[in-house]
Amino acid sequence: YKRMVLASRPQGHVVPENFRLEEVPVPDLKDGELLVRNHYLSLDPYMRMRMEDVKSYAAPQAIGETMIGGTVGEVVASKNPKFAVGDKVQGMFGWSEMGVSDGSLLRRLDTTHIPLSAYLGSVGMPGMTAWYGLTQIIQPKEGETIVVSAASGAVGSVVGQLAKLRGCRAVGIAGGKEKCDYVVNELGFDACIDYKAGNLKEELAKATPNGIDGVFENVGGEIFDACLERMNPFGRIALCGMIAGYDGDPSPIRNARFFLTMRLSMRGFIVSEHMDLWPQGLKELGTLVATGKLKFRESVAQGLEAAPEAFIGMLKGRNFGKQLVKLI
Ligand code: NDP
Repeated sequence: YKRMVLASRPQGHVVPENFRLEEVPVPDLKDGELLVRNHYLSLDPYMRMRMEDVKSYAAPQAIGETMIGGTVGEVVASKNPKFAVGDKVQGMFGWSEMGVSDGSLLRRLDTTHIPLSAYLGSVGMPGMTAWYGLTQIIQPKEGETIVVSAASGAVGSVVGQLAKLRGCRAVGIAGGKEKCDYVVNELGFDACIDYKAGNLKEELAKATPNGIDGVFENVGGEIFDACLERMNPFGRIALCGMIAGYDGDPSPIRNARFFLTMRLSMRGFIVSEHMDLWPQGLKELGTLVATGKLKFRESVAQGLEAAPEAFIGMLKGRNFGKQLVKLI
């Protein structure tokens, strides 16, 4: 089967040459092990940070090893009594068509009402990220205004929809008219601002007539700066991501004084450190997706060979919704 390894660390922007496709033999299973055929690989912004050897919350991705990544697939052979052939499972098998596991860290999935791929999106890690940052850090109250950047993406799309369900005004920021139209017309946000149109500050002021009470920050740089200017006293900021700076330099934050003058609080978080809350969050998200109350969209690249370009595209905003790679 095929797997994609990290060939070299990026010097500046990620390039396809940073990855290498390898063919490896399917291993014989030992007692207690099972073999999974991955159907989808999730491409996520955090992978860009792991490609670099810098101080972070997790160790860097090793050169020559399979790129890290979340996957969903099907058990195709099992010597583990807890898993049968045909079971659908979620794992961390990385950029790989197959994976061997001892069963620990595998989640068995019910695809009766929820499509398999959604377990990598709204009912998986990105959905939980939205749920955690919104409910635990921003703690929105009815009538408040919540702004989220990268609003059409895997995390952002869930943030705004959950905020609406909690009676808030949800305002998105996204790149381009098509994404903004989708955020308002399909996802039901109250407004969405196209930061590429050139008048972010004016449009943000118009879309937040009562100021901003909560910011779910996915991007950083100028977008975050613009939000700070609109914050109400005691506003809360969930610092989820700063993607503008992952594959290039973000612009500096000029409006830090509003932390003082508006008595703001901000907390960064890593969703995988809050596993205790996943059952609660996933229950809400799963119910909402199964009943059609939480909408999502996917960009699907075909085949492992397409993963590097899809990943580079996601870092440039070419994805429209959750970026996946279909492996089968
Ligand atoms: P998305 O599906 O939102 O895809 C990334 C999007 O980021 C792009 O589509 C693009 O949207 C936007 N973007 C990229 N570069 C820039 C830029 N320079 N300026 C502005 N926008 C940019 O990805 P996810 O939903 O998976 O992730 C969103 C954020 O959440 C990331 O910052 C990620 O690191 C973070 N995250 C954090 C976690 C945590 O535990 N803290 C867990 C999971 C995700 P557009 O075209 O609209 O610009």
